[in-house]
Amino acid sequence: MKKKTLHLFIFADALGWELVQHYGILKKVTPQQKKCETLFGYSATCDPTILTGASPREHGHFSFFVKCDPKRSPFKLMRFFKWIPDRIGGYHKIRNRLSRYFSKSKGYTGYFQLYSVPFRFLPWLDYTEKQDIYEPGGIIGGQPTIFETWKQSGKVWHRSNWRNGDAANYAEMEALIRKGEVELAYLFTAGLDAAMHRYGPWSPQAKAAFLEFEQKVESLEALAKEHYDEVRIAIFSDHGMTEVTQNSDLRRRCEALPLKYGVDYIAVWDSTMARFWFSTDVAREQITALLQQANEGAIVSDEQLADWRCDFADQRYGELFYLLKPGILFVPSFLNMSHVPGMHGYSPDDKDSAASWLANFESKHPVNRLEDIYAVMQAAALD
Ligand SMILES: [Zn+2]
Repeated sequence: MKKKTLHLFIFADALGWELVQHYGILKKVTPQQKKCETLFGYSATCDPTILTGASPREHGHFSFFVKCDPKRSPFKLMRFFKWIPDRIGGYHKIRNRLSRYFSKSKGYTGYFQLYSVPFRFLPWLDYTEKQDIYEPGGIIGGQPTIFETWKQSGKVWHRSNWRNGDAANYAEMEALIRKGEVELAYLFTAGLDAAMHRYGPWSPQAKAAFLEFEQKVESLEALAKEHYDEVRIAIFSDHGMTEVTQNSDLRRRCEALPLKYGVDYIAVWDSTMARFWFSTDVAREQITALLQQANEGAIVSDEQLADWRCDFADQRYGELFYLLKPGILFVPSFLNMSHVPGMHGYSPDDKDSAASWLANFESKHPVNRLEDIYAVMQAAALD
């Protein structure tokens, strides 16, 4: 009789390499532990790479908000609400309700959240992740995801639903392992990311979240060993997490310039980077001068973007990028109104940005960076 093997791939949002070493977790289940290079950007950049093996410039995902012709913006109706102060518009209940409204009325199937983008700027913006990146057709560049490969393999496969919380996803995976039929499984978890954004990566609450994660994985492994002859586990992340020690009010300083948003320029303030498109030379000069004087970060050169594989041919994500130094956060940004103790999205070369690859098997395809994970998941389907 054929040997029964389970290939279990566990995605853990923000399981950084520095954190894995600091908390010393998962050495028993996954003795092979190594650093995995992350990408410039956020989960929006990294996750499509994990799912397809393609780099950002190939799959076309980078960040949620981009410049848009106001005639075509899905948010053009918001021009009637531009009088609403940012503080009121930032209220999360209003945001969540509006996000649900847009999601439904525009037929978005992807992760959609308005975050703290001021209502008055929305008519000049578009949202990039309209389709569910885990479903066929969800990747902007048209690449198939690993799940399409798994489906074609004819093996029994399963993927958690990212909309459900970790508790539901663990419980579902346990039930499947008990049945002993699933051969390829992808478990989605985001609890570590949430705990570290909320309390910081070195907080007692983060430590508790890491220990709980370890215990959950250990019990899944023990259960799987009861039902399978061989259990291959790989745990990996999209990026790490950096402790935030300083806030930057650069957005306020930029908006105090004698320039008009939508007329002279358009900007998107992610939590750790700002991206700009210019309509006038004056706007380009004034904003560039402001950024050059600001000492909390640096303008990202075109060469650096190309080196990070984030050079998008049509400059869709911005003509000029400004990136904060690790540990500094824009407050306010379009993603957060107030201080957050843990954040990612800094230079991918910074030690706290690095992701992890933890496994209990030697892979034919070495994993050194996010682009490499796909090949291991593909090989599992051919096993
Ligand atoms: Zn996060």
